[in-house]
Amino acid sequence: MLYVSTRNDQEKVTASQAILKGLAEDGGLFVPEEIPSLDVPVEKLADMTYQETAYEVMKLFFTDFTEEELKQCIARAYDGKFDTEEIAPLKKAGDAYFLELFHGATIAFKDMALSILPHLMIAAARKNQVKNDIVILTATSGDTGKAALAGFADVKGTKIIVFYPKDGVSPIQQKQMVTQQGENTFVVGIHGNFDQAQTGVKQMFSDKELEKAMEETGYQFSSANSINIGRLVPQIVYYVYAYAKMVQSGAIQTGELINVTVPTGNFGNILAAFYAKNMGLPIGKLICASNENKVLYDFFATGAYDRNREFVLTSSPSMDILISSNLERLIYWIAGNDAEKNRSLMKSLQEESRYEISAEMRSQLSEFYGNYAGENETSSMIRETYQEFGYIMDTHTAVAAAVYKKYREETKDAAKTVIVSTASPYKFTRSVMTAIDEKYDSKADFELVDELAALSGVNVPKAIEDIRTAPVRHTRVCEVNEMQAVVKEFLHM
Ligand SMILES: *Cc1c(COP(=O)(O)O)cnc(C)c1O
Repeated sequence: MLYVSTRNDQEKVTASQAILKGLAEDGGLFVPEEIPSLDVPVEKLADMTYQETAYEVMKLFFTDFTEEELKQCIARAYDGKFDTEEIAPLKKAGDAYFLELFHGATIAFKDMALSILPHLMIAAARKNQVKNDIVILTATSGDTGKAALAGFADVKGTKIIVFYPKDGVSPIQQKQMVTQQGENTFVVGIHGNFDQAQTGVKQMFSDKELEKAMEETGYQFSSANSINIGRLVPQIVYYVYAYAKMVQSGAIQTGELINVTVPTGNFGNILAAFYAKNMGLPIGKLICASNENKVLYDFFATGAYDRNREFVLTSSPSMDILISSNLERLIYWIAGNDAEKNRSLMKSLQEESRYEISAEMRSQLSEFYGNYAGENETSSMIRETYQEFGYIMDTHTAVAAAVYKKYREETKDAAKTVIVSTASPYKFTRSVMTAIDEKYDSKADFELVDELAALSGVNVPKAIEDIRTAPVRHTRVCEVNEMQAVVKEFLHM
């Protein structure tokens, strides 16, 4: 299995090379030449552990890794860092199944992929005789940063630099990042939003002069962002796993179609669901949930992607994104794997901040449903679900639940539905608790943590306990146009 760039299908690389590079030379994203089919029947998957399922999926994509390499990466990733052996448990509340992807080290779904990416990357570096140290350059809307830092901290042969929007993450998210241990970790707040952080990082990736200077100092960049295929593929696993577990528990029959609702920002998580569907997993609708930054909703409604709009800071900051990078992989797909066509659309996005797809391309989006939830709908969803079922969800999951409710009302589609739960409510304690009752707003952050434990009956996760008293190690803040200078400074270049 080889990978091509969405902007130039002449450039073909192996899986391990795609993981090492992160982004293709031409600024495109690596995609597999074709999506493989699942070759294990669901009945068999139903009895598998998360780790076994992960192997069955990853072996189909990462074909230049040996069985031993993959199994070792999987064993090191999905271990006691997760607070449950199931790794990704399903919880039923009301008529939906919540797939909880926040049981890893940093209590957001980014752990699902970022606990394995460092291991894949090291194996890939060995396989390709890489001599340089790998510098992981990452822009984060809040959750990727911490999960990547946790994954790469003190990993030999790597350094990691994370840029986050100084005023665009939750207090807990920020504390998690600035207290990160590890001599090879650097965390920088920027005076700007996530899109600016992401654009700055992408520019560094395609800067040839910088690349040369890095090479001379013994460094090369890679990416831990969801544009890396080494992040996308591990995210397919939990859809397969969830489906198989629903069969095992009798919630569905083998072959029965389920819907998935995904709280979406950079379009990585839902794209993994789309890939799972194309591998043969019986998924009906892919319900794409946005917050007030509803650029994707508008895209599905009109066929025009237009980022010319105000960037809104919401209570679901990990979805405060106007440039959904992974959408490019879907655009390439619906263009019939036409790199030329995709490239011209992406050029238009860069130059005019918008593009419009053809009617023919649009006709291939019928399996997607897009909608969005405003701030009030999101907090009502948290409050009502708590009051009715005693289940407390985070703000991002609530956006998805609110959108699913709209979908049900609009379509009357009663197919069993998985709502992807992307963060622990503990990560967004203030927003979650004030959604339940405004009286909580007067309390301090860690008082709220204890109140949440009392209300939910769910123990305070270790990730939160750890930062109660942890010292701040990273205080650097910079302007958007200083990002490259900061990188050079950290690397002593
Ligand atoms: C990253 C993130 C999302 C968005 O996921 P994408 O793959 O970027 O669409 C949603 N919720 C949470 C909590 C996240 O951390």
